[in-house]
Amino acid sequence: MFINLENVFNNGVSEIKLNYEFDFTGLEYDGVYPFTTPVRLQGVVTNETDIVYIHAVAQFTLEAVCDRCADNFSREMNVPIEHILVSELNDEDNDEFILVEGMRLDLEQLVMEDIYLSLPMRMLCDEDCKGICSKCGKNLNEGNCDCKKDVDPRLQALQQLLDN
Ligand SMILES: [Zn+2]
Ligand SMILES: [Zn+2]
Repeated sequence: MFINLENVFNNGVSEIKLNYEFDFTGLEYDGVYPFTTPVRLQGVVTNETDIVYIHAVAQFTLEAVCDRCADNFSREMNVPIEHILVSELNDEDNDEFILVEGMRLDLEQLVMEDIYLSLPMRMLCDEDCKGICSKCGKNLNEGNCDCKKDVDPRLQALQQLLDN
């Protein structure tokens, strides 16, 4: 989805309001489809003394599976979309700036990239998630199981000698 920024770059318009919804339901991340509801984008593109900025926030509900306990969980996310927009780039290596070719910004692409970069490396339902018991598979967030703690392997060898 492109928005035309010619007015804000060249024609003295100081602000363009952004109020969009994107459908990312078909986007996969790490084997799941985390965007089950629309992503809402609100903010502005502004020209402040000839520097063009995007100041916006993408709001969405992240639907994911916990990497530790395998439970489904959802979380409200607010991802800042903050960049300086330029219509031409003199220094190719500068990734602080977003190049807007032909003054048409692919807003959907930009929002998608920023959201992907903001997603955690490990999806955890809670920082303190206790995970599942490796023996019985019980979700330990719901309470302890009756399994005994793993015995140190050296003690286990000793135990076997004694058993024999
Ligand atoms: Zn968990
Ligand atoms: Zn157990």
